[in-house]
Amino acid sequence: MSALRVYSDPFQHAAIAAAVVAPLGRDAMGTAVAAALVIDVDHAVAARSVRIRATTGLDRRPRTHSAVTALAAGAAVWLAAGRVQGWAAFAGLVSHLLHDAGDRAAPTPVLWPFAPARQLGRRRQVAGTALLALGSLALSRAVAGASSAPSAAGADGAGASARRRTA
Ligand SMILES: [Zn+2]
Repeated sequence: MSALRVYSDPFQHAAIAAAVVAPLGRDAMGTAVAAALVIDVDHAVAARSVRIRATTGLDRRPRTHSAVTALAAGAAVWLAAGRVQGWAAFAGLVSHLLHDAGDRAAPTPVLWPFAPARQLGRRRQVAGTALLALGSLALSRAVAGASSAPSAAGADGAGASARRRTA
């Protein structure tokens, strides 16, 4: 485990998370990047140390590196801040899990508790990441369609940004 990998990973996670929700705009990108960075705090908790050597010396990634975490966090953010932010948190976390599961380092419990931790490989990472980007594209179209329809004005997209401006 080289020092280069340790220090470049947060940037890779942030860049990938921002890319997969780019169609949804800057607020969504900020949410996705934050989610993709915050989840690696669990490495430090699991190792009971923030020292780099301890945090990267785990023989498997912590159980919070699971789709269950991504779903729970996405649902919580959706309820608190709307579907665009909820999707952004979910997509940012899943992009992180896929990236972690795409290397040859410690096994990643993506499907825990339903399946044991294992790596998925770069090919599946690329496919899964592309699906997330397509999901963002579809959601951005749905939001644009909803906010241009008179009956739905203020329901989600326009209403959410208006609330943010006044907050
Ligand atoms: Zn990670």
